[in-house]
Amino acid sequence: MALMGGGMPIPEGGSEKLAQALLQLILDQGGTFRPNTLAHRIILKNKRAVGVRTTSGEEFHAKQAIVASTSPDQLYLSLLADESMSPPLIEQAKQFRYGRGCVQIHLALSEAPRWPDTRFNKVGQPHLTDGLDGFTQAIAQGMAGLLPAKPTFTVDCSTNLDPSRAPEGKAIMRIQVLEVPCRPTGDAAGRINVGDGTWTPDLTERFTERVLEVVGKHIPNIPSAVIGHSVVTPAAIARFNPNSGPGDPYGGSHDLAQSYLFRPLQAQPGHRTEIHNLYMLGAATWPGHGINGGSGYIVAQKLLKTKD
Ligand SMILES: Cc1cc2nc3c(=O)[nH]c(=O)nc-3n(C[C@H](O)[C@H](O)[C@H](O)COP(=O)(O)OP(=O)(O)OC[C@H]3O[C@@H](n4cnc5c(N)ncnc54)[C@H](O)[C@@H]3O)c2cc1C
Repeated sequence: MALMGGGMPIPEGGSEKLAQALLQLILDQGGTFRPNTLAHRIILKNKRAVGVRTTSGEEFHAKQAIVASTSPDQLYLSLLADESMSPPLIEQAKQFRYGRGCVQIHLALSEAPRWPDTRFNKVGQPHLTDGLDGFTQAIAQGMAGLLPAKPTFTVDCSTNLDPSRAPEGKAIMRIQVLEVPCRPTGDAAGRINVGDGTWTPDLTERFTERVLEVVGKHIPNIPSAVIGHSVVTPAAIARFNPNSGPGDPYGGSHDLAQSYLFRPLQAQPGHRTEIHNLYMLGAATWPGHGINGGSGYIVAQKLLKTKD
């Protein structure tokens, strides 16, 4: 609704600009940034979090607090694996549930999408669907582990707002198909062989064709205007981000039993952990997924209050 009413906010020049701006804030405050470095263990001493050890054995020490932007299973079962934490935390971390996956298709277009109704050019991120029944069916098929026969998804054309993202006259479009099984066990339409559920290039291409067929019904110059595409599969999401489990883009299922006071875990209903100077933030914590900065803001307020 917010996107329909207010439009789709995007950083000018590409999404990376947002990450770069946030990084610059850290650098401006004298912080350092270590890309391609995996935190392996959080070091505790006398029930305080005192540092982080990386997979290469380097150690970084903390003066005030450690803030982990991780899912609870990574935090308790991996980063704190050598420590004795309370049994309910460990048990619940083992049971933390991930949601379904996402297939995101990026299109390079020889021209802007030609919607039959030009008002769609101003809608942030419209859904393409047959209606509520079609939407419900696609989700039910995804929940059953099947590729949806008629996927429901969103499209957004960021070059409508920011032409600098493509060469003059050209356009780009993002198609976001949510509620896709991370490892499909079958195809609801019975036409795509999913093999053992691995997102092979063939499976990815066949599913992309299915999605583009639906797009073409709503936007007549697709797929003829497509000059290139690149697809992010659940497997790629899992590979790039240890917080996404098997490929959940939203850092853990947001079902009711894992939301609000139950997020991230019933035994830890907030950002503070049982180690009093170790905090958690990110999609697995309240208020959940999305580029909203909400959990970071909450944790920052807590840190400011405890600063000596
Ligand atoms: C394909 C896709 C499309 C999306 N589209 C949208 C959208 O349009 N709008 C929207 O609002 N949201 C969208 N989301 C969701 C949004 O990106 C996430 O909810 C959000 O990024 C979560 O932010 P976060 O701060 O929890 O951390 P993340 O963005 O998950 O970042 C955590 C970082 O920590 C790193 N990390 C994890 N463990 C370790 C470790 N042990 N050591 C070192 N580094 C580690 C990860 O690699 C990652 O870089 C999308 C997500 C995906 C995958």
